[in-house]
Amino acid sequence: MNRSLASKLPDVGTTIFTVMSQLANDVGAINLAQGFPSFEPPKALTDRISYHLNHGANQYAPMAGIPALRAAIAEMTLRLHGRAVDVDNEITVCTGATEGLFSAIQAVVHRGDEVIVVDPAYDSYEPAVTLAGGITRHVPLLIADNGHDFGMDWQCLKDTISDKTRLIVMNFPHNPTGAILTSDDLDQLADIVRDTNCLLLSDEVYEHIVFDGEKHQSFSGHDELRERSLVVASFGKTYHATGWKLGYCIAPAALSTEFRKVHQFTTFSVSTPMQHGIADFLISDPDFAANLPAFYEDKRDRFCRLLEGSRFRFRPARSTFFQIVDYGEISQENDLSLAKKWTREIGVASIPLSVFSETPITGTRLRFCFAKADATLDDAARRLCKL
Ligand code: PMP
Ligand code: GLN
Repeated sequence: MNRSLASKLPDVGTTIFTVMSQLANDVGAINLAQGFPSFEPPKALTDRISYHLNHGANQYAPMAGIPALRAAIAEMTLRLHGRAVDVDNEITVCTGATEGLFSAIQAVVHRGDEVIVVDPAYDSYEPAVTLAGGITRHVPLLIADNGHDFGMDWQCLKDTISDKTRLIVMNFPHNPTGAILTSDDLDQLADIVRDTNCLLLSDEVYEHIVFDGEKHQSFSGHDELRERSLVVASFGKTYHATGWKLGYCIAPAALSTEFRKVHQFTTFSVSTPMQHGIADFLISDPDFAANLPAFYEDKRDRFCRLLEGSRFRFRPARSTFFQIVDYGEISQENDLSLAKKWTREIGVASIPLSVFSETPITGTRLRFCFAKADATLDDAARRLCKL
């Protein structure tokens, strides 16, 4: 049997996050590339998880998630978005947003269906579509005349929708650009999809990290959109715990039923003591997430202030914990090779944006993660200001 292995994902290599983190480790660079905080999760939360680990919560959780966690997620959704969610039939706890996104795509995309993603697009969407036999169509974000603000190109989205479009994947607050949507934007989207059969997959992992007094507009909170949406979120960003891989998917009952058919055979259920611990913490400290904007806004402002003396051009991020900078005044080199070069030579690792788009819309831009200790940001900025 010497048959060569025909890859199901021939165009996929190792993710840029793994590549840049590995390089940063190899050369001892400051890692502002892969997005993970350098802070610990709240002690009250890890205490509750330890408690459950030591008090019998160590066997399979229910497939859809433990009822207490689903109830706490429902309470949060009602409080933040004014939306009552059916605890039994509309919420599924999943293994990080990644599993939620993957299961959602497998659940609804049939062979030959088209799926629209918005570029720059998080890297897990397209391979999931390909594995489902779907075809990915790309709608680039618009860059405003000031060269810094990114926003939806609604006309382009409208023009890209066809009879074959099964799903539109959106990600606001947006990684990597920090773009957000207003309630008017959601209304525009509702107008566009109203007479179509398109479903929506809304990746809202940065739901709590929005700056300058703006408010995250969840698809769960929009009367029309919620009826056709799977909304996926993650506790990884919210609790400084990206390694826990705990997330959830909110969708109307019929969509959740299909979602669970895939979820139950992707992973079946999610770590039991973690679910209990998070449920306890969501109930005892429901306002933890409300403090994230101020916390990360300080980090963003510090990093931006430090970069003011540099030759980078930027607009402070509107959301997430990533700052985009334009390096066009320093170099015209390709962003991937430059990110690697600066990791080696300057000792600061970043993420090149071009890897997230079908066409080269992002030009000379890099992404830096500012979810780091102040001293780390100071050190990184000192190095970047020498360029
Ligand atoms: N979507 C986006 C936009 C992300 O940035 C991330 C991870 N940072 C994920 C999904 C995956 O989240 P998780 O780690 O919970 O799987
Ligand atoms: N979402 C994180 C980022 O954008 C990385 C996740 C991963 O490493 N797969 O940096």
